[in-house]
Amino acid sequence: MKTIESKKNFKILVVDDDDALRGLIANWVTSMGHHCETVEDGQKAVDYLSNTSCDLVLTDMIMPNMDGMQLLKHIKEKHTDISVIVLTGYSNEYSYVDVVQAGAADFITKPFMRDEFSAKLDRVLKERRLLEELRESKNKAEASSKAKTAFLNVISHELKTPMNGIIGFTQLLSEAELPPDKKKYVKMVSISADRLMKFISQILDFSTIESGKNDMKICHFHLGNVFEEIFITAKPKSEKKGIVLNLEIAEVLSGKLLFGDQLVLVQILYNLIDNAIKFTDYGSIEIKVKKVKELCKDTIELQFSIKDSGCGIDPEKQGAIFDPFTQAEEYMTRKHEGAGLGLAICAKLVSMVSGKIWLESSLGEGSTFYFTAKMKVA
Ligand code: ADP
Repeated sequence: MKTIESKKNFKILVVDDDDALRGLIANWVTSMGHHCETVEDGQKAVDYLSNTSCDLVLTDMIMPNMDGMQLLKHIKEKHTDISVIVLTGYSNEYSYVDVVQAGAADFITKPFMRDEFSAKLDRVLKERRLLEELRESKNKAEASSKAKTAFLNVISHELKTPMNGIIGFTQLLSEAELPPDKKKYVKMVSISADRLMKFISQILDFSTIESGKNDMKICHFHLGNVFEEIFITAKPKSEKKGIVLNLEIAEVLSGKLLFGDQLVLVQILYNLIDNAIKFTDYGSIEIKVKKVKELCKDTIELQFSIKDSGCGIDPEKQGAIFDPFTQAEEYMTRKHEGAGLGLAICAKLVSMVSGKIWLESSLGEGSTFYFTAKMKVA
């Protein structure tokens, strides 16, 4: 990025009905290295700006045909990019506040000395330059973020197709008559392929949500169905580890027909329950849903909590846990697979249901993940 001191010649329009002052200011402006044009009143400035652009207008206040305030208002409405400095006498009917509130970058009271004039003009132009640089950096950052998201989208789509082939044929191979050692190899290929597929799907989910292309799919549903869907995959995993999954839905919610994005809710809960199972070796996982607020007659705020008796998370790591590609375990000593994307996806999904996500956890004592969601009730 260029420094704000970097030189740039600006194009400045001086508007004043006093020939001598107009000439003097034009002289000062050009001697500061800028390009200068002059006109005698507000209407002529409007005509000039309809055909030619400039960076800054220096305008007198009291002029025939159209005064400085009218010109300032016109510029702020039609040419929002142009900065305006108002030159005015003490007797003028408009105050500093009026002029600044109307959008002027500064105000110079007549009579003024060259030093004061140059300092004010310099300051406004420096701010302008800084703003232009910030705008440019922001545009570059947005363009590169868009390119990154598009790249991730294309790559993960392209990877998914051959991965489906690998997983499908590995499945067929695992059903074939094979010697035991070959069966073991096929099983290992299958586990690795599933892991890779999960990673690719997470990247695709993450980039889809980040690009804002994840459309909400609103429908009527029961919380019972949400958990039924999740438990089909989660229960076999928890049972394999001897962990019990307990679900408690507050009575006011049980049997209630909700209206919202069921799929988003399933994705958030599945990620959090899957993590709870992954990071817990014994004990139980308590899943609770309660109503925390009645927002208006048909909208409520729900709070979900997933409490596990697992390894817990170091308080020092908790601040960044919802950032993408973050894991609490040290890379070298990691026991668990994963790309550190699950919680980042959850955080983005939670904002889609106008909620918050947070956790309470201490090392060795388990973790509780909470999130809220706003839903309509039928
Ligand atoms: P990953 O796919 O690597 O698990 P996540 O974003 O889901 O990524 O989780 C990030 C990290 O947060 C995990 O690697 C783990 O260190 C920690 N973590 C998440 N959930 C739990 C939990 N219930 N108990 C302990 N640690 C957890």
